[in-house]
Amino acid sequence: MKKKITIIGSGFSALSAACYLAKKGHEVVVFEKNNSIGGRARQMRKQGFTFDMGPSWYWMPDVFERFFADFGKKTTDYYELIKLNPAYRVYFGVEEFIAIADNLDEIVAEFEGIERGSGKLLREFMAEAQSNYDIAIKDLVYRPGVSPLELVSLETVKKIGQFFGNISQDVRKKFKNEKLIQILEFPVLFLGAKPSDTPSFYSFMNFADFGLGTWHPKTGMFDVVRAMENLATELGVQFFVNSNIEKIIVEDSIAKAIVVNGERIESDLVLSGADYHHTETLLDSEFRQYSEKYWESRVFAPSSLLFYVGFNKKIENISHHMLFFDTDFNQHAREIYDEPQWPTAPLFYANFPSVTDKTAAPDGMESGFFLIPLAPGIEDTAVLRAEYFDKIMQRFETITKQSVKEYIVFKESFCKNDFVEQYNAYKGNAYGMANTLLQTAFLRPKLKSQKVRNLYFTGQLTVPGPGVPPALISGKLVSDLIDKQFQKEKL
Ligand SMILES: Cc1cc2nc3c(=O)[nH]c(=O)nc-3n(C[C@H](O)[C@H](O)[C@H](O)COP(=O)(O)OP(=O)(O)OC[C@H]3O[C@@H](n4cnc5c(N)ncnc54)[C@H](O)[C@@H]3O)c2cc1C
Repeated sequence: MKKKITIIGSGFSALSAACYLAKKGHEVVVFEKNNSIGGRARQMRKQGFTFDMGPSWYWMPDVFERFFADFGKKTTDYYELIKLNPAYRVYFGVEEFIAIADNLDEIVAEFEGIERGSGKLLREFMAEAQSNYDIAIKDLVYRPGVSPLELVSLETVKKIGQFFGNISQDVRKKFKNEKLIQILEFPVLFLGAKPSDTPSFYSFMNFADFGLGTWHPKTGMFDVVRAMENLATELGVQFFVNSNIEKIIVEDSIAKAIVVNGERIESDLVLSGADYHHTETLLDSEFRQYSEKYWESRVFAPSSLLFYVGFNKKIENISHHMLFFDTDFNQHAREIYDEPQWPTAPLFYANFPSVTDKTAAPDGMESGFFLIPLAPGIEDTAVLRAEYFDKIMQRFETITKQSVKEYIVFKESFCKNDFVEQYNAYKGNAYGMANTLLQTAFLRPKLKSQKVRNLYFTGQLTVPGPGVPPALISGKLVSDLIDKQFQKEKL
């Protein structure tokens, strides 16, 4: 029977769930508090410059293909993908960088040139990473985190040791060169924790990086949001923006309605794609499953200081994605996770979409995005933002040997306070709850409320975890659970 399902938020997980639920024949209505959809992946267009406000690395193209294939579609029905070469550059000092090529053979040769014998070791490491990818991304992450037994299979039992070792140890066992170590530790940062707190099994992220490559939708990550919005609309989903959900109404322990901008909207089922902690605050306290103490004890992914910058000239010596690892990685990690404070000497990331996509900036100009990872919950002031902008601009100018500051014609910042205010993000986290051993699979917050019937959750605080591909998967997992409930009710 057709049900009315209201969805809170329009991030990737909500968009994914909306598509699956509409395909099942339900009436699906999405309510987004901001004035455009996409959640953390919104787009900003100002003065001729276009910026993806959040995600910029399109990894795991197979996950996106699998999503669209579930609707009889291909990504190319909606957007064009470009494989980046180099995938990215990692800077260690003035004009001192390693460029990661778009194929493993060249990366192996690069490694060998830096540390003798490391090429063969890299192939061994990647073979294991690929095997983990096959187990994790093709299978395990598509399980809903309901029971620990989901993780038990012939393959995972063979790899049990990898759940107790960590990426940092593994990489150090094989490689001695600090630069190579940092490059191999980089991909798991997407999972939100330190490499030393990320189980070895997560080396599948290295396969995503070197094995599958870094892609770019032709006019930016927002192409994917648009694609999913189009697919959802084709399936009959309705979208409302500027629609803040103020309350989830529960009667007899059943979710009955939501309150949107003061208006009660009846629902057969409520699904929230907003941050889990925030969603629970929309419930009366007796219906919340997790205490403040619980959230306080979780390891959250970092918050970030972001800058969207327009330059009125072409910048030299740049590539699409650039990582600035010219300072102490361990100290910055400590200042995010162990002793939260503004980083003494921040690592940072920059991307210049206009290198690949001419529409991202006016002719002869460049659009740049800069990101400094920060401890969640940290103090955020205009003075600190300005101080850190100067710090990274100075480093950027020295390292790439040019002056750029005087060519800035547009600049906007986004930091912890904006994550809280615009996305209701717990402690202003940028990308959810980290995937540590104790926050994996069935140990993450549940997709289905244990206290309120017909209330479900999706998104980066649930399974499988942070990132765009996991968000697509999370939407599928929750819609499968919802469907299971409806099928049971029919019997
Ligand atoms: C700066 C940054 C860089 C990133 N880089 C990458 C990357 O390169 N590659 C990658 O794969 N991932 C990246 N990520 C992570 C990725 O973007 C996220 O994991 C993913 O987009 C999260 O999707 P979501 O659906 O879980 O949540 P969100 O996108 O946060 O969606 C939640 C939505 O709910 C809305 N909402 C909240 N409260 C309410 C309410 N009361 N009423 C109505 N609506 C509400 C919010 O406004 C938001 O639109 C990055 C994230 C950030 C922030």
